Amino acid sequence: MSTTAIQQNPFQSMLDRYNTAADILNLEQSLRETLQRPEKQVLINFSIKLDNGQEKNFEGYRVIHSTVLGPSKGGIRYDTAVNLEEVKALAAWMTWKSAVTGIPFGGAKGGIIVDPKQHSKTELERITRAYTKALADVFGPDKDVPAPDMGTGPDEMGWLMDEFSLLHGKPIHAVVTGKHLNAGGSLGRTEATGRGVSSVTLLAMQKLGLAISHSTVAIQGFGNVGLHTAQFLYEAGLKVVAVSDINTALYHPAGINIPELILYYNLNNKSITGYPKAEAIEHDELLLLPLNVLIPAAKEDVITAANAPYIKASLIVEGANGPVSSDADAILKDKNITVVPDIVANAGGVTVSYFEWLQNSLHESWPIEQVNNRLNDILEQSFSDVYTTATQYDVTLRVAAYILAVKKVAQTYLLNKSVG
Ligand code: GLU
Repeated sequence: MSTTAIQQNPFQSMLDRYNTAADILNLEQSLRETLQRPEKQVLINFSIKLDNGQEKNFEGYRVIHSTVLGPSKGGIRYDTAVNLEEVKALAAWMTWKSAVTGIPFGGAKGGIIVDPKQHSKTELERITRAYTKALADVFGPDKDVPAPDMGTGPDEMGWLMDEFSLLHGKPIHAVVTGKHLNAGGSLGRTEATGRGVSSVTLLAMQKLGLAISHSTVAIQGFGNVGLHTAQFLYEAGLKVVAVSDINTALYHPAGINIPELILYYNLNNKSITGYPKAEAIEHDELLLLPLNVLIPAAKEDVITAANAPYIKASLIVEGANGPVSSDADAILKDKNITVVPDIVANAGGVTVSYFEWLQNSLHESWPIEQVNNRLNDILEQSFSDVYTTATQYDVTLRVAAYILAVKKVAQTYLLNKSVG
């Protein structure tokens, strides 16, 4: 049997989990439909002038899933595989993520079908400015607040902020988060998602009785999330036995020296290919290694019904959004594998985005201790809420997280509507 992941529809995975929670909560049918559908879906086409003078067309999206709990919040993805179903799923996950974390935001996501590696800095700037112009009436500090996601970072967020500010004739820092420090960014934002993934991993390990000094972990993905997760878990004393990026997967049963690998990666054009002190293995193999903790921190739907039966880890922590497709949920449950779902595990990013938005709105800048302490408090609280709910309802952590998130959005929606 092939253990290669089959591409699933991420929106379907989101809906399956949502419906499980909605059933348990006995959500009335029309409310159930209202909350699952995106409030707004925008598809844009624009063209920019390339450095060689030619015009090139691009397609982009912004999906607002929900504004029930506050202005919508969520990243912008630059990737050739971006499509509406994916953006819809990612937007909905942002709604549930903010809800379960207790952040006063709704959920949104955006994307452009583009391979950022094929474009120069100046072209990426033109693409980002054109995207911002096309969505100028959608974005706003109290309406919809974008952030980085796969393929974007502080540069793109800075261009977006500048373009939006130019269009409005005044500086509007709080329109976007994940900016450079000088452009109104927050200390701790870059590493926030990885810091959160590692904190939540340690909390889950404690519950499972996995001792840090004896445990091994594999991390799929060496982007902003995977790299910082590897770094923090290494610092905490875990043995990081495998990591991968888009081209290469590395394995060393005795553990990889992560600070050394990060140095190599930075000197090697942001690639782990060729790192000499570990064995190169097949990408799919990494997910099936004999180890304690598996952290998929790259893309959606990498663990499916096809490879879930062969997973040997006892704990999966979702660093990426949607890395486990819904058809694998029952298999993992039967195998007694604990899964810390994305909407809890990777919420560190949006949490510090919230802090950045607050600092911009209040014209403050917080010291790093304040950022990290508040982040830790929020993540500990949401992990503990989810854990308690899972015990109460006798469900998985994922179902528990959805129960909490959907209940909160449903209750607020009904309160807001009660007079009308
Ligand atoms: N793109 C990140 C996520 O999926 C961060 C979103 C944000 O900071 O608004 O959670």
